[in-house]
Amino acid sequence: MTKPEPHHEHSMQRTDTEWRSLLTPEQYHVLREKGTERPFTGVLTQHHETGNYHCAGCGAMLFASETKFDSGCGWPSFYLPADGAGIVEHEDRSYGMRRVEVTCARCGGHLGHVFPDGPKPTGLRYCINSASLTFERR
Ligand code: FE
Repeated sequence: MTKPEPHHEHSMQRTDTEWRSLLTPEQYHVLREKGTERPFTGVLTQHHETGNYHCAGCGAMLFASETKFDSGCGWPSFYLPADGAGIVEHEDRSYGMRRVEVTCARCGGHLGHVFPDGPKPTGLRYCINSASLTFERR
């Protein structure tokens, strides 16, 4: 498990015991242990309702359905975070790859990665674990 950078202060601080009691085992694995759910298994991957996607750890609004697209990669994919969404990017060199990890600014939870192969207008693909999101219909 990779520890969050000590210099990054999250406004929501919880103990490991609290996170374990608040999250499902899969949410805990993804959000707190930087796990990755198996592709094509998340309930929000093939999900096309109009609404907002929030952090499953702290409820912060992260993405709007208007920016969700079907990337075919097996995880919910967005080309842009919501206005004012607190998403932090970090270089991730794990598993012999150089990727950009994205985490929730408020709770520090791991969300997924962002890749430079998305559609217009941003050209970005925020590849986000379904387990780290909750959906609210709008
Ligand atoms: Fe969060």
